[in-house]
Amino acid sequence: MPTNTTKDPGPTLPAVEMHIHKPNDPTIGIVVENRLCTKGGNKAAGFVRHIVLDISKTNIAGRFRVGQAFGVIPPGEDAKGKPHKVRLYSIASPTGGEDGTGTLLATTVKRMIDEHWDDHSLFLGVASNWLCDLQVGDEVPITGPAGKRFLLPAAPNEHDYAFFATGTGIAPFRGMVQELLAGGVTSQIVLVLGSPYATDLLYHEEMTALAEQHDNFTYLTALSREPQPDGSTRLYVQDRIETHAELFEQVLGGERGLVYACGLAGMELGVIQGLYRTLTPEAFARYVIPEPEIAGDPESWNRKMIPRRLSPTRRMFLEVY
Ligand SMILES: Cc1cc2nc3c(=O)[nH]c(=O)nc-3n(C[C@H](O)[C@H](O)[C@H](O)COP(=O)(O)OP(=O)(O)OC[C@H]3O[C@@H](n4cnc5c(N)ncnc54)[C@H](O)[C@@H]3O)c2cc1C
Repeated sequence: MPTNTTKDPGPTLPAVEMHIHKPNDPTIGIVVENRLCTKGGNKAAGFVRHIVLDISKTNIAGRFRVGQAFGVIPPGEDAKGKPHKVRLYSIASPTGGEDGTGTLLATTVKRMIDEHWDDHSLFLGVASNWLCDLQVGDEVPITGPAGKRFLLPAAPNEHDYAFFATGTGIAPFRGMVQELLAGGVTSQIVLVLGSPYATDLLYHEEMTALAEQHDNFTYLTALSREPQPDGSTRLYVQDRIETHAELFEQVLGGERGLVYACGLAGMELGVIQGLYRTLTPEAFARYVIPEPEIAGDPESWNRKMIPRRLSPTRRMFLEVY
């Protein structure tokens, strides 16, 4: 592996506003839409809803950017009798919101459903299930916006993009893809969306339609528990780097590329290992760490090692939870 000791400043990111409403001073969004994103008959035990809030009466209106998140404070108290804490949800809209006015903010919420660790009774996550149950007209205490790193660059047309999403990790990319394409960029954009089954692919029709309309946008799916629609094998998002090696080499082989990954914690490791297997050593050094020979073989990394190694490149953006 070659040594690249030049410190890469990465792309310039836009200035963003943060914490206009803090947890001790939340504002109120009003639900204007709440619909199921997953298809009926979905095989995985997951329910995801597209929820749109009217924030026109809040100080956040027009002041969030695509890629940021906002906070939700569910009503009631936790087991210790304290008010519930803020939960963060990615903004699934472009910077102008759902209709360009900056007043309609969408997110993509997965109901957290599990068996309780202690007694295997049904465990329902507080905020996600409360949000998914809401009806049009209901009020949601919100905070934010939050996040100053998981953003599109200030000069979007100077870059090409590889977006990797699992599950609700699609949320910020829905906004980013809409924003880039509506802004008329000529950049190459590749979105890989992973889910267990085809019935769980979120915003699939929307992304398919955008890919049909725009030659510079490629939308790829990766189904991990059933064959792909074309009958080929089960895939994880990182496997697409190898099945479409030429495309990723075009997007990430030069100086313009940026890599974004959002979704289930742990997915970033697979993406990094996929990049390691497919890209040239020079390109890998540009995205992951400038001096890979010091860090050793990424195949032997674990996800706790990643944040420290990744940060110097500033060309890979992670939002995992
Ligand atoms: C930057 C960021 C962006 C995010 N964006 C999104 C998004 O766009 N969409 C989305 O759906 N989520 C998103 N999340 C996750 C979201 O914030 C919440 O964590 C998620 O919705 C679960 O919250 P909850 O209140 O429903 O669950 P909680 O009531 O908070 O339950 C989860 C907690 O319960 C505990 N727990 C988990 N499993 C069990 C079990 N089996 N038995 C007992 N206890 C258990 C754990 O401590 C866990 O932290 C994001 C998170 C971050 C940090």
